[in-house]
Amino acid sequence: MSNELKTDVAIIGAGPAGAVAAALLIRYGHRVTVLERESFPRFSIGESLLPQSMAYLEEAGMLPAVQQAGFQHKNGAAFEADGRYFAFDFSDKLSSGWATTYQVKRAHFDKILADEAARQGADIRYGQTITSFTETADGVALGFEGQEGSGVVRARFCLDASGFGRVLPKLLDLDRPSDWPVRQALFTHVVDHIDDRNFDRDKILITVHPQHRDVWFWLIPFADGTCSLGVVGEAELVQGVPGGEDAAKLRYWVSSVPNLSRLLAGAEWPLPIRRLTGYSAKVSRLWGGGFALLGNAGEFLDPIFSSGVTIALKSSFLAAAALDRHLRGETVDWQTAFAAPLARGIETFRHFVEAWYTGDLQDIIFHAGRAEPKIRQMICAVLAGYAWDEDNPLVARPGPRLAAIAELARAA
Ligand SMILES: Cc1cc2nc3c(=O)[nH]c(=O)nc-3n(C[C@H](O)[C@H](O)[C@H](O)COP(=O)(O)OP(=O)(O)OC[C@H]3O[C@@H](n4cnc5c(N)ncnc54)[C@H](O)[C@@H]3O)c2cc1C
Repeated sequence: MSNELKTDVAIIGAGPAGAVAAALLIRYGHRVTVLERESFPRFSIGESLLPQSMAYLEEAGMLPAVQQAGFQHKNGAAFEADGRYFAFDFSDKLSSGWATTYQVKRAHFDKILADEAARQGADIRYGQTITSFTETADGVALGFEGQEGSGVVRARFCLDASGFGRVLPKLLDLDRPSDWPVRQALFTHVVDHIDDRNFDRDKILITVHPQHRDVWFWLIPFADGTCSLGVVGEAELVQGVPGGEDAAKLRYWVSSVPNLSRLLAGAEWPLPIRRLTGYSAKVSRLWGGGFALLGNAGEFLDPIFSSGVTIALKSSFLAAAALDRHLRGETVDWQTAFAAPLARGIETFRHFVEAWYTGDLQDIIFHAGRAEPKIRQMICAVLAGYAWDEDNPLVARPGPRLAAIAELARAA
């Protein structure tokens, strides 16, 4: 059976980027059809949000539903390395705006956002995989396949929010290799049974491996007594440890870090271990004839600062505003309205990620208790997701400033 759909905007993928873009466009008065490959709820990684993302959820009219869901409150980020510990409290940040957010199981969170987009008027079709893209005289045509057969959706514009599916980058040959080493993450959810009263469930805990500074772990507590647990490092190193299965390798890595093995001594591991390799991705351009790329379908840096969902929502916010003007007949320069402003914050995070893996940012973080309060607040603001705030000197010139602060930290 062949199916033809007509809409103003076709969105590929109903993850956070797609759902928020859909809601914003509905609010601007446009018709939106979202085609999603899976049926929801479905698992996704990316569970620790940043406070900056709350502003975009609010703008999309989704915040009350998220606030009522009972997710784990989050107010900061804690770092541990070989007995050294420092915790940033997001209320002590330079930029104004939200200082708290949530740690979420994405299956539940993404379903809430998609249901909110549908409640506001988006037509979401699950179980439909986009397989082709053509620019037409009056817009675009997207081919899709589902259980009931194939079809085509005709729209004036397409937003690709397909995440790691990277639909348009693959179809239009926009993918470019990342400049960074191929890293791998092994992860799962554990029933943590953590009884240490000093363990702060309101914060993500990032732990640096005592021997390998470029290997790190996340522990993200949820509201139901479980935690998301993962290890990240260069793929060869992560795989090159004893144990045939990924489960044995993840357990090996955890057991090689005293503080983590102590915290998780009583943990149950009921779920399979998942693996993602070479997730860093970039593209030759973020927009083109009839399309723009949102969230992970465009660029993905690295999980270390939990920036993925925030960048995804920022891209939706910028694209929806530009697209509203386009659909109203204005000539829109997508480079200045969308790609360049988005790149500002991505660049800030890129410098932070690079400084993390050179060790500069680790030196800064573990000396932050003795740093000037203003420096601490500048770093805290970026860790809270305010990577577009040009009033923060670390956003205006991140590279040289991070290097200078690291020098000061090492000299202290
Ligand atoms: C190891 C790791 C840890 C991470 N941790 C964090 C974290 O703590 N915090 C954070 O903010 N971010 C984190 N991230 C990043 C986060 O996962 C992503 O940035 C975020 O999910 C991007 O959202 P999105 O809406 O762009 O894509 P997604 O959430 O991936 O949604 C894309 C949707 O598109 C659908 N789709 C794909 N192909 C097709 C197709 N052909 N047709 C139709 N639909 C399709 C998919 O089924 C999916 O539902 C992490 C990433 C990694 C790799």
